[in-house]
Amino acid sequence: MAAFASLSEQREFADNVMSKGNAVIIGAGIMGLAHALTALEAGWSVVVLERDGRPLGASVRNFGTLWPIGCTFGPEREQALFGVQRWKELAPEAGFSIKPQGSLSLAYRPEAWAVLKEFMANAGAMADGFELLEPDEVLKRFPAVNPTGLRGALRSLAETVVQPASSIAALAALVKKRGATVLFGTPAVKIHADAVETSDGRRFAFDRLVIAAGDEMRLFYPDECAAAQLHRCRLQMMHTGAAAGGVQARRDPGERPDAVSLSGVSQLSELTAASSAVG
Ligand SMILES: Cc1cc2nc3c(=O)[nH]c(=O)nc-3n(C[C@H](O)[C@H](O)[C@H](O)COP(=O)(O)OP(=O)(O)OC[C@H]3O[C@@H](n4cnc5c(N)ncnc54)[C@H](O)[C@@H]3O)c2cc1C
Repeated sequence: MAAFASLSEQREFADNVMSKGNAVIIGAGIMGLAHALTALEAGWSVVVLERDGRPLGASVRNFGTLWPIGCTFGPEREQALFGVQRWKELAPEAGFSIKPQGSLSLAYRPEAWAVLKEFMANAGAMADGFELLEPDEVLKRFPAVNPTGLRGALRSLAETVVQPASSIAALAALVKKRGATVLFGTPAVKIHADAVETSDGRRFAFDRLVIAAGDEMRLFYPDECAAAQLHRCRLQMMHTGAAAGGVQARRDPGERPDAVSLSGVSQLSELTAASSAVG
């Protein structure tokens, strides 16, 4: 199954645990394609099974922001930075665009400004790439920002933007170019001990299986998913309109400033906590 607890675990998987054989991967979203690339690099023979004619899942419906600032300092951030680096390395060969725009977290409430300052203080040795900006500096460098009540901002350089649909399509093509069999319109319907069965009755034998089917995991492991008390939910960000007194997290292509911007208490966990505290 997909997901590694740490970067070193992922490397160990690629370097030591995997021996050559057949890897079957269910799902051609970012998780499936990333595992396909890793397995190919480790010398596996790879088959990717995707139920739709092209990837239509979360990986093409997202905002395309590679967002290390949302991760806690330590192994989680290290993993996120590794991920950004990987995207940058793959972009030229796959042929998708990638923009290292950075991000700007704006503070309008005293609590938010206090948390940004605390964030900076906690960054310690990892403070490289972060800058705490006073209002004058924010407005000089980012004139689109609403000045009313602005207390300051945190500028971070690591955040990077890709176009979700075109980058996922390009990565699928790259996986194919590097030697995998990528089958679209091929739903996996049953997992046997050593093979995956597809809706057309074919069986794909595997030595290793990666199930990267997003929330469709329930199809294969209904009891386990129920036991884990997983619940499907909607992403409320999809309903968010223009932020009052700020700039939006995302706007139409061509309208972007030179940073992904967020205001209020929308991203940092500390900020969310501060938000709940103040109501
Ligand atoms: C609106 C939105 C905004 C987001 N914003 C961001 C963001 O800015 N930055 C960020 O990092 N993350 C963001 N995310 C989260 C991120 O998009 C997901 O975590 C990620 O795409 C999950 O990838 P995945 O491959 O697991 O799932 P998916 O992309 O859903 O891929 C699963 C694939 O499996 C296929 N599949 C399912 N069942 C079968 C089957 N039986 N047989 C064959 N194929 C099957 C599906 O068709 C699908 O293509 C956002 C998500 C959403 C929805």
